[in-house]
Amino acid sequence: MGLTLTEKLIGQSLADGQMIRGQRIGIRAHQTLSHDVNGVMSYLVLEAMGLTRVKVELAVHYIDHNMIQADYKNSDDHRFLQDITAKLGVICSRPGSGICHQLHLEHWGVPGKTLIGADSHTVAAGGIGMFSVGVGGFDGAMTMAGEPLYLTMPKIVNVRLTGKLPPFVSAKNIILELLRRVSIQGGVGKVFEYTGPGIATLNVAERSTITNMGQETGATTSVFPSDENTRRWMRAYHREEQWVPLQADSDAVYDEVIEIDLSQLEPLIALPHQPDRVVPVREAAGVKVDQIMLGSCTNTSLQDVLSIAHMLGGKPIHRDVDAGLYPATRTVVRESIARGAHDKILSAGVRIFEPVCGGCNGCGFAPQSNGVSLRTTPRNFVGRSGTASDRVYLVAPETAAASALTGVITDPRDLKLTPFTYEMPEVFVDDRDMFQPPAAEPENIVIRRGPNLRPIPPMPALPDVTGGEVLVKVGDDITTDHICPAGALYLPIRSNIPELAKHAFKVVDDTFADRAAKAGGGLIVGGSNYGQGSSREQAVMVPRYLGVKAVIARSFARLHLANLVNWGLLPLTFVNGDDFDKISQGDWLTLDTEVLTEGQQIIVRNETKAVAIAVSSPLCQADLDSIKAGGRLNQVKAKNQN
Ligand code: SF4
Repeated sequence: MGLTLTEKLIGQSLADGQMIRGQRIGIRAHQTLSHDVNGVMSYLVLEAMGLTRVKVELAVHYIDHNMIQADYKNSDDHRFLQDITAKLGVICSRPGSGICHQLHLEHWGVPGKTLIGADSHTVAAGGIGMFSVGVGGFDGAMTMAGEPLYLTMPKIVNVRLTGKLPPFVSAKNIILELLRRVSIQGGVGKVFEYTGPGIATLNVAERSTITNMGQETGATTSVFPSDENTRRWMRAYHREEQWVPLQADSDAVYDEVIEIDLSQLEPLIALPHQPDRVVPVREAAGVKVDQIMLGSCTNTSLQDVLSIAHMLGGKPIHRDVDAGLYPATRTVVRESIARGAHDKILSAGVRIFEPVCGGCNGCGFAPQSNGVSLRTTPRNFVGRSGTASDRVYLVAPETAAASALTGVITDPRDLKLTPFTYEMPEVFVDDRDMFQPPAAEPENIVIRRGPNLRPIPPMPALPDVTGGEVLVKVGDDITTDHICPAGALYLPIRSNIPELAKHAFKVVDDTFADRAAKAGGGLIVGGSNYGQGSSREQAVMVPRYLGVKAVIARSFARLHLANLVNWGLLPLTFVNGDDFDKISQGDWLTLDTEVLTEGQQIIVRNETKAVAIAVSSPLCQADLDSIKAGGRLNQVKAKNQN
């Protein structure tokens, strides 16, 4: 029986276990990726572990997420990151070079290698034939330290593409179509492996738009083969010698097959506030638009920027629309300028920002109150733009550009423009000098720290949980943004947990932090897919810091579950999902976690309502042991001391 591409890739980095679906496996990273938001925590963990040099083939750090320098905090953190990466042997991409995922595809991604990155959209690298997994800052640190990453051997879904995209329907619509079909939970425990004749019509940038936003299905990752298009991409970025061909065996066996005929797709749009609320653009057409954000790691390759310039053609955008573009990388900017695209976009009245994440995570381009914002980003969770009352729709660049011109949501086909065609340059401008290599004499590097940089608070071993008040009860699909808000106000204090804790659950209930502090902690109750979205471990550290001891939910998002283990906050799931209704906020629960072991049910007594509820933990025994130790950092420190 032949192997899928996913099995071949996992096989190359397998450090523990066997590739049997559903079983726990350990994989070791060839490459790691970090950025300024999660990276601060990663490097604080590495310092706490006493590591002096990273232990992977290649580690790259990107300063790309939060560039606002309204005071000292971000620039202090950036300086710390530049120092510590130089010391530990990590290549550093300085502010303004571009967004991590696109930069990694351009300059560092190698087919066949495994990339583990401290950011959920690390999975974008599947577009170049890498096995790429997003983790939190702690796991990012552990992988830099050469430790295996443990995950469940996923099911492998063959997404078979046929046909060719019609005019004005670009790659974003393929992943929106997949989200429409499978939902934001449809990829949990799975890898989406793309095959079929349709893949030959997509270049690496288009493929990575798809693999990037595959994250929004909850999938472990997504992957494309490495073929002649991959080779052409790597040649254009001056590194053809790193290319290797890779594909599944012809008799590979998949767990599931999804067929998408590209020629049948039309422009799609995700309605507020979830990426899977997808309908054809024509069904949402006519809604007045206040703001348009072009950009993000999902959608600002050179092809996207040229397509936007073509659509706008220098015509002025609608007077009621505020539009801004975040190009993906410095190379994209330079190539776009060379082709006159920047001029067309600027003369249309679009603001052009530096090549960073910026407005995508609420750090620079928030819409007005109750504003309708059309975005080419991968996520539209409530408040993520930086405006709590936002109404964010997700679209492809062509729909965004068409709507910028008309002032209402517009199907780009309705403007009757000449279709855009893209020929990827034979060679891109050589921009590799924008990366800062590690220091030749690391012992001479003095690490500079600003006052905002606080040590990781102690996370004492978890006493057996005996009870507590339900401090907050939330519904399905609660995101890390709900638990610990994103945005320009909060990201600068990401490494200051006591300060950040004051804003926990602010989007849901702004009394949470005070009540938790007064009660000395308690419990959280959630619905399905608790903790979906980003890899932000502060969404665990903050409730943990406030004394929360356990989260009881219908189910947990994969990345968040890993972060709960890393930082020692106990996840429990309802044995019967309907028991969610038997608990209200403010109820007093008693339980005994002393007897909790892998697969074991325990009883939670709701003393307020006088009912008993069966729960268990979704964790294996090793992870339960980590929780009892107060998290994996405590275990690693104890191991190092011995
Ligand atoms: Fe940056 Fe947005 Fe991409 Fe996250 S999703 S890496 S914030 S551009």
